[in-house]
Amino acid sequence: MTNAPANTSEGHRWQAFNSTGLTCSCGERHVGLFPINMLTPVGWNGPRDYQEDDLLTMDRTFISPRYAVWEGQSFAIRMRLPLIIKGAQPAAFMYTVWAAIDRIHFENYVKARKEGKLSNLRQFSARLLNRLGGHHDTANLVGVSHDENDGELPMLLLGGPQPYTNRPDHPILTEQRHGIGFDRMLELFLAYDHDMRAAASAANVS
Ligand SMILES: [Zn+2]
Repeated sequence: MTNAPANTSEGHRWQAFNSTGLTCSCGERHVGLFPINMLTPVGWNGPRDYQEDDLLTMDRTFISPRYAVWEGQSFAIRMRLPLIIKGAQPAAFMYTVWAAIDRIHFENYVKARKEGKLSNLRQFSARLLNRLGGHHDTANLVGVSHDENDGELPMLLLGGPQPYTNRPDHPILTEQRHGIGFDRMLELFLAYDHDMRAAASAANVS
């Protein structure tokens, strides 16, 4: 909880979510934001069991928590895709997604990570390889990925020309730039079978 307006409906619900939590259709009580993780890139028909990152092989099909290689031809890494919660920055609804990058960038990333030399000055273009629930088709949207000094997953910021999609004005670009409200956050959790709407409504009256 940061600076969400305390005396509004949104503020009450945000407060409840971050303090006592909200009961959810999945059976859990969620206290605060949690990430929604994409297991594989879209259309993946390789193995679904992750190997260890360190066992990465470049010349065949491989998947681990951070890396995916398709037949030694296509390369993807897991990135974070944040949607800031309006009024509660830097809190952000977070996906972890797969994004395709060029082989040279992939190799550099693997090497820098191994050597503990990731730098947030390093940026390269990346293409989203997931269809995120609750949005128009997000596959193939492009953006820029930023490495993180601390070894956290790179951050993917969508934007710029969109050569692979007929939606250059895709709504998620706007949502990433300007943030989302509490109700939209509930909707996005719902898209992954985390329905907290009833608990949020109950918190609204307190
Ligand atoms: Zn849940």
